[in-house]
Amino acid sequence: MFKSATFRLTASYLGILMAISIIFSLVLYNVSVHELHNDLRRQLPYFQQFQTDDSFGQGFAGFETQQEITSKHRLQIQLILVNLIILVAAGGASYWLARRSLKPIEEALEAQSRFTADASHELRTPLTAMKSEIEVALRDPKLSPKDTKALLASNLEEINKLETLSNGLLRLAQHNSEDDKAFSAVSLAKVSTDAVERMSTVIKSRPVKVFNEVEPTMVWGDRQHLTEVLAILLDNAIKYSPAKSSVRLTSRVQGNFAYLSVHDKGKGIGAEDLPHIFDRFYRADTSRSKDKTGGYGLGLSIAKKIAELHGGSIEATSQLGKGSVFTLKLPLSIDS
Ligand code: ADP
Repeated sequence: MFKSATFRLTASYLGILMAISIIFSLVLYNVSVHELHNDLRRQLPYFQQFQTDDSFGQGFAGFETQQEITSKHRLQIQLILVNLIILVAAGGASYWLARRSLKPIEEALEAQSRFTADASHELRTPLTAMKSEIEVALRDPKLSPKDTKALLASNLEEINKLETLSNGLLRLAQHNSEDDKAFSAVSLAKVSTDAVERMSTVIKSRPVKVFNEVEPTMVWGDRQHLTEVLAILLDNAIKYSPAKSSVRLTSRVQGNFAYLSVHDKGKGIGAEDLPHIFDRFYRADTSRSKDKTGGYGLGLSIAKKIAELHGGSIEATSQLGKGSVFTLKLPLSIDS
């Protein structure tokens, strides 16, 4: 599809360039021929002063026509040559331009189809598990109420996974534009308090201590969405930390930006995984199943998208077995 689009775009660019070149050549040719004709006309009195008989007029006319024809030929050949050179150069340039124009579209389409394939795969896994469990149960003539209950419990677990996944997909789709954001001056301290509050059930369920040392620095953003980013980072920090360890939230200001960091002493992320953790559906350690961590690899991509919509970014540093630091960079509020 993209090959033919590239070809068509190249042909269109080339057509436009050649049309300009040909029109320019025709104008140049006509002007030059006109000038040449006038030049030769102007030379007539000069020749007349040497020759006075009647045959001169005819002789000069012959000379003039011959000169004109030769010059016109030379000009035509030169213009054809120049246009051929332009055709070759413009062909190359048009192809390069067409590739350049279509590349971002091609990449976006590729990412979209990769995302659809990943999402379908993730949706299919719990559905297949449920389907096969139900089929086996239906084939069993001696299915006891206890077995039925176990089956329903297992199905409910799969449904919960599907719900988590569809919520994640929905959140990812929601954060596609800046339009729905209510940007204003927001205190980072308020954002961190909101996030800790939102994660209070998770914090209580795990023996991990959370220290909130975030300063009331004013940034420019949407309080709700920034809370969501921090909740994602906090959730991960708690989820991937061993019991009795601690998670710290800190902030600092540098230049026109505020930096909010979430430090954990958890299992860390390997150097080979670190560049990919913000990709959709990427999970560094697949041996730790979703059942344990409840993740689908969507959290960090949602967080990254929100940060970018704020004109900021998220970066991670980590050491396997020692812990990780996720830092959210946000533009300071103009009033601060
Ligand atoms: P998930 O829902 O799987 O946690 P995320 O997008 O939030 O998805 O994270 C992607 C992957 O990055 C996780 O599966 C995990 O392997 C890794 N990760 C994220 N945060 C941390 C952390 N604080 N410590 C260790 N690994 C982490």
